[in-house]
Amino acid sequence: MTISGLTLFKLLPGGKKQADANCKKCGFPTCMAYAMKLAKGDTTLNKCPHASNDLKDLLEQSGGKVQALVCFGLKSDPVKAGGENVLYRHCKTFINPTCLSIHLKTSQRIDFLNSIIDKIYHYQVERVGELLKINSIALHNDNNDLESFDNLLTQIINKKLTEKLSVILISNCINDLLEASKQLSNHQRPLLYLKNGTTEQYRKLLNTTNCPICIEAEKIEDLVKMVEKLEKDNFDQIVLAIPEECKRNILETLTLIRRSVIENNHKQLRFPVLTIASDYYKDADCIEEGIISGNLIAKYSNIVLLNYFDPAVIYSLLTLRQNLFTDPQKPLQIEPKLYTFGDVDECSPVIVTTNFALTYFSVAGEIEASNLPCYLLITNSDGMSVLTAWAANKFSGEVISKAVKEFQLEQKIKHRNLIISGYVSMLKEEIEEELSGWKVDVAPLEAVEIPEFLKNYKITCHQT
Ligand code: SF4
Repeated sequence: MTISGLTLFKLLPGGKKQADANCKKCGFPTCMAYAMKLAKGDTTLNKCPHASNDLKDLLEQSGGKVQALVCFGLKSDPVKAGGENVLYRHCKTFINPTCLSIHLKTSQRIDFLNSIIDKIYHYQVERVGELLKINSIALHNDNNDLESFDNLLTQIINKKLTEKLSVILISNCINDLLEASKQLSNHQRPLLYLKNGTTEQYRKLLNTTNCPICIEAEKIEDLVKMVEKLEKDNFDQIVLAIPEECKRNILETLTLIRRSVIENNHKQLRFPVLTIASDYYKDADCIEEGIISGNLIAKYSNIVLLNYFDPAVIYSLLTLRQNLFTDPQKPLQIEPKLYTFGDVDECSPVIVTTNFALTYFSVAGEIEASNLPCYLLITNSDGMSVLTAWAANKFSGEVISKAVKEFQLEQKIKHRNLIISGYVSMLKEEIEEELSGWKVDVAPLEAVEIPEFLKNYKITCHQT
């Protein structure tokens, strides 16, 4: 449950109009400022010596109303599933990105499995400064063929995939899971998904392996009862599979589960949820599976299993996931400095823009595409895009002039030309006023036009 700053304020001395209101002992100028920070989780309750018991109780209760966090897989870098505490990203932020796992089945042809394993091993892409990759691999003995299951496991161990990706093991047979988890125990604490298991079997898995488990049942009520029984033994490393009867209404079910946890504190449904994309659209092709998976990522699945591995689809899903799981209150930023592209010299052109990561990567990508040497001067504009920064006075003549001096541009080039985006052409005169002797040129509106612009660009202002 999210508690607003105003609700917290009402329980503080400031809200109760007590004598010690706004005493500043918490380090904030007013009780209201402290309450706002407390609501965001940016400070703690013990900073206020006058906090009432009502306030403590409220925060304690709300602390229990979050999704449980379950970690599995690589011991060195486990997947963190769950731990979310808001229903909508804009309320605060989503925390642990949905785990994307490639679903390999023993019923599939061995050459097909081999080719996927090789592709997964090498796949990673960089986007806005972050390395994006698949988190996990799921091995599923879907045709009760223990020999094939063993072979598949041996293969991913030999190819060292188990040292790189977190593993999910799926089978109808508890002994398959017990045996396979032992083989992986050097590097992994795999997630064990026993299909059609009983409470007794799930209890045995938890007791014997110390690995988290994924449980399933025919109906959601049965799933809740199963969790109740396991919790009596203090087990909390549990992941929920979608009950068979709910698979037709998958998005409704996922929303209902998340809403029950966040808004109604439904204790037994607080565990992360695993979905298999192909369960909700029989015979889906790669693109269809990608569309379904996008919905599952956006609407509350914590772990999504994918049957296909197509780099184009995976890239779209990773991009979607990255966009959803970045903190909306902290724009992606890059370090303000003077970046160089190609063999720059004192005659190379200089483009100047803000430190919003998407802006930087769009411009940098086009400069690279031009194959021409170029400087890129990045100002400290609090991670805002060019127009927003201009409107907020964070990308102004003064800010640009400061960056030119701070990063010693005048010592690196012998001309005095700066290039700005067409979106802020109105800054031209302001910059020229701040930077005496400099000339500002205006680039086209869209970054994609930069290569053509640079090809025809002429330095016109020389150092006097
Ligand atoms: Fe208000 Fe407590 Fe901060 Fe004092 S210490 S200003 S009472 S929140």
